[in-house]
Amino acid sequence: MAIREILIYPDDKLREVAKPVEFPLSDEVKAVVQDMADTMYDAPGVGLAATQLGVALRIAITDTDWRSGEVRHEDGGEPVAARNLKVWINPEFRWREEGMVTCEEGCLSVPEVYEDIDRPAAVRLRWQDMEGETHEADFEGFQAVALQHEFDHLDGILFIDKLSRLKQGMIKKKLKKRKKLQNS
Ligand SMILES: [Zn+2]
Repeated sequence: MAIREILIYPDDKLREVAKPVEFPLSDEVKAVVQDMADTMYDAPGVGLAATQLGVALRIAITDTDWRSGEVRHEDGGEPVAARNLKVWINPEFRWREEGMVTCEEGCLSVPEVYEDIDRPAAVRLRWQDMEGETHEADFEGFQAVALQHEFDHLDGILFIDKLSRLKQGMIKKKLKKRKKLQNS
């Protein structure tokens, strides 16, 4: 278990196209998935792709319940945020709805930037689980958006790529300045 460093835009490694994962999973890949979960919950975020940790494998995780305000009590102690961790390996969209939905998106690799992005409102997804079993299901709304955002990472695509050149330039400047401040 370890929290790894999340790559920040404009890091070239965020542009890598990730390779398919082979089964059975090696201990090394299992450790990557565990570290991804530790890192996402620590951030905290609702999704993370292996690409964001500099690992070029087609793996993403999400927990879209994480910040929904749902809490449970464990042994009468402090409330704990509900966890609904999902691991998506070799994900592939089989279909995307023509109708679009607009959501405000953010990304752990693009800190402090939140922008409205249009995406297909519903998707059909095929993916593999940790055992290598294949699943197919439909998703809509926030889940569909979160999945498309995460799987874009596996192809080296960031949500800010969908913004105007001008806006992208401003974001790049802001994050370079942020990095300079942190390093000084
Ligand atoms: Zn992201």
